[in-house]
Amino acid sequence: MLAPQNAKTRSVLVSGASIAGPALAYCLDRYGFDVTVVERADAIRRGGYPIDVRGSAIDVVERMGVLAKLRSAHIDTRKLTFVDAEGNQIAAIAPEALSGGVTDRHIELPRGALTSVLYDLTRDRQVRYRFDDCIGALRDDGAGVDVRFASGTEQRFDIVIGADGMHSNTRALVFGPEAKFNRYLGFCFNLFALPNDLGLSYEAVVHAEPGRLAGVYAVGDSPVLQGFLNFAVDEPPFHSHADIGAQRRRTAEIFSHGGWQIPRLVAAMQRADDLFFDTVSQIHMPRWSCGRVALIGDAAHAPSFLSGQGSSLALVGAYVLAGELAAHADPVEAFAAYERITRPFMEANQALASRKGGSLLMPRTQAELDARNATLAAMQASGLAPSTSEHSGHVHNSLKLPGYTRWLDGQRLP
Ligand SMILES: Cc1cc2nc3c(=O)[nH]c(=O)nc-3n(C[C@H](O)[C@H](O)[C@H](O)COP(=O)(O)OP(=O)(O)OC[C@H]3O[C@@H](n4cnc5c(N)ncnc54)[C@H](O)[C@@H]3O)c2cc1C
Repeated sequence: MLAPQNAKTRSVLVSGASIAGPALAYCLDRYGFDVTVVERADAIRRGGYPIDVRGSAIDVVERMGVLAKLRSAHIDTRKLTFVDAEGNQIAAIAPEALSGGVTDRHIELPRGALTSVLYDLTRDRQVRYRFDDCIGALRDDGAGVDVRFASGTEQRFDIVIGADGMHSNTRALVFGPEAKFNRYLGFCFNLFALPNDLGLSYEAVVHAEPGRLAGVYAVGDSPVLQGFLNFAVDEPPFHSHADIGAQRRRTAEIFSHGGWQIPRLVAAMQRADDLFFDTVSQIHMPRWSCGRVALIGDAAHAPSFLSGQGSSLALVGAYVLAGELAAHADPVEAFAAYERITRPFMEANQALASRKGGSLLMPRTQAELDARNATLAAMQASGLAPSTSEHSGHVHNSLKLPGYTRWLDGQRLP
């Protein structure tokens, strides 16, 4: 691998401060780039639903020096229970049976905990944050990128990276409307917090009816549960996406009848001030860069939560992109190398969503639900994972990370 170029003079604007953004900012700062991160929210978001770091992403966080910290935040979910309309257990299985996680190559932690660890890493360094702002317009003239922020400030950067999620603003400005790249998987979901008055800890409980899935996730022994109400719908509600009131009403209507704890979940969803509604979709793009602008994480290749791999892909992409930018003076060459190295890995992980998602996690018909119940009962009886999980574990680990062992600040990666 080449030594980093004289990168000190190169300035990078990163849009988005969740997982991909701070991870990239940290690595770039270590390489000596001058890094600014712009985030639409007024602070980083802490707390939230559980996500996974596994496979090749474990090597990334180890090289970033935060593996032990992340391990200490491991949630250690012990049980997934599937119940019928009366709340009777259909099956209870270990989460690894579905996720394909290999124990020492898998950490499950609240999304906000991962974001906080990454953000804190960058705060010890020279990364600048602009919260409560976003890119309003940008113009790439081949030698640099002129950015006008929504706040009105104008600034020129050498490179701009969109790490602003599935609905990326950077992607829309440079590559065109999301509809060109959004592959809708046929479901919508609502996430919201509710009091843990079911006495649950270190577990999730799920109830499915054809085309509808309701559940709660107890993160450790938190007094707050993460509730979800997911439903199948053929036409994605893109047009009313931002209208949270409309989505709330629609979800309440779809779940207006149903067993188990559905009425209680609907009531909690209607009250929630943290309601997060979205479609279950993937992003597929023929290229992740254009000139001096590139995308990472969900903005480039969202795999959907059905894959359980979004955070890991975001970390791997950030690490490789930073390494390639350090290794190449020309960002266009760096972007090409980043894409050549990571695209097969990203696409293989995206493909996991359709393998696992369809009938096992989200049965749409009574026949699919019956088949799912039979599979779960067999898994519980045998203690074995379905054949897909072995395949998943292989895919999660399938990228051998490049070395990038030279850091401008004199430290060496393991
Ligand atoms: C319900 C749910 C469950 C999931 N479960 C899992 C799981 O089990 N395992 C797993 O690995 N992954 C899971 N994921 C996926 C995971 O959360 C994402 O893949 C991951 O967060 C992607 O990180 P990112 O940094 O690319 O984008 P995001 O986390 O989406 O972050 C984008 C950031 O950009 C900011 N932003 C947006 N627009 C702008 C703008 N215009 N200007 C500036 N900033 C902007 C946002 O505020 C946000 O901070 C789940 C996702 C959801 C929604």
